[in-house]
Amino acid sequence: MQNIIGFHYTLKDKDGAVLDSSEGQPPMLVMTGAQQIIPGLEKELMKMKKGEKQTVVIAPENAYGPVQEDMKLTVKREQFPEGAQLHVGQQFKINQEPQAPVFTVTAIKDDNIHIDGNHPMAGKELHFDVDVTEKRMPTPDELAHGHAHGPGGHHH
Ligand SMILES: [Zn+2]
Repeated sequence: MQNIIGFHYTLKDKDGAVLDSSEGQPPMLVMTGAQQIIPGLEKELMKMKKGEKQTVVIAPENAYGPVQEDMKLTVKREQFPEGAQLHVGQQFKINQEPQAPVFTVTAIKDDNIHIDGNHPMAGKELHFDVDVTEKRMPTPDELAHGHAHGPGGHHH
């Protein structure tokens, strides 16, 4: 059974540093089962009622997965397009496939460029303060489209 769930959230790491938040925006609006949010969070939201507030702690394996060491690579500067301006923190895709990982330049040592294709939140335990603002059945339109409609959801 699919549900439409609206919620405000503040995402923190295990040390309490805020990584992301819906503050100042409409609540996030998702359809369950549509893989719009990480599975661990969806599972907890499905147990909550409208108006309920909770802190949900999600282990890396139910969020963005563990850090994969084989996604940390060192490549030579000449493997980049000639004249490419490289800097630490720069992000790029190695190809145009939609599922291609995004690599981040983590260090530059002379001609050795260290890159990391892990998701920035890989290996992190995520702490979500969530506040459920809406919980209802999807409308026939939403079911047909496979996503939530309305503020914070999908706009046409
Ligand atoms: Zn739609």
